[in-house]
Amino acid sequence: MTENGDATPLVQLENVNKHFGSLHVLKDINLTVSRGEVLVVIGPSGGGKSTLCRTINRLETIDGGRIVFDGNVLPAEGKGLARLRSEVGMVFQSFNLFAHKTIRENVTLGPTKVRGIARDAADKRAMELLERVGIASQADKYPAQLSGGQQQRVAIARALAMDPKMILFDEPTSALDPEMVQEVLDVMIGLARDGMTMMVVTHEMGFARRAAHRVVFMADGQIAEENTPDEFFTNAQTDRARDFLSKIL
Ligand code: ADP
Ligand code: MG
Repeated sequence: MTENGDATPLVQLENVNKHFGSLHVLKDINLTVSRGEVLVVIGPSGGGKSTLCRTINRLETIDGGRIVFDGNVLPAEGKGLARLRSEVGMVFQSFNLFAHKTIRENVTLGPTKVRGIARDAADKRAMELLERVGIASQADKYPAQLSGGQQQRVAIARALAMDPKMILFDEPTSALDPEMVQEVLDVMIGLARDGMTMMVVTHEMGFARRAAHRVVFMADGQIAEENTPDEFFTNAQTDRARDFLSKIL
């Protein structure tokens, strides 16, 4: 719930279906994300986790059911779509920074171009955010000069710069060298503590245990199980989830 006490869910998926040709990728998904909630989505590869994320900011359309974001039924079009995209940040496995822009420019680009925020104000805010993710000293470097963990922290700062209502993380640490995973997770744990609404696809069980309010297990396009992290990791209800956990833990 937000400080102003808004108890309506931020995101509601109702009987959402999605096909890629004859492949049924999302099957009657019903899912609610509350304001300030950290939802971790786990499950085997190909289960539909990325597609689920992408439908929420409408990088993918759906072909059945509906998605309500902050009281508005998607599909958003035109200006509504631009607004939705600015309200839902996304952090991908492959950092997706602009290679030919400095770190600072990567963070100010959205606010200045999309939000029309003045350069000075955007710069000031960018430096605050880079400070928050521990990377302010690198502001004038280019992405290739940073480690993967640093680049991913920049990607998080870039998402935050739009003042999103929610951030979707799709396997944000999967492409990182092991020694860089924790620095990114620490930033995410900080965001969670600050009350950011987050949907996080990850196999990082330590993160799920520390930060998640709820874990959703997705397989074959369906939500097979939904529980608190404690319950899920110690007492998974379905064979499918138990089998998956036995392979990754
Ligand atoms: P996950 O993120 O859980 O690994 P995805 O959502 O990426 O799963 O994919 C779910 C299924 O949809 C997979 O079978 C995948 O091959 C298929 N798929 C994903 N994106 C596309 C696409 N753009 N076109 C066709 N099939 C796709
Ligand atoms: Mg995926």
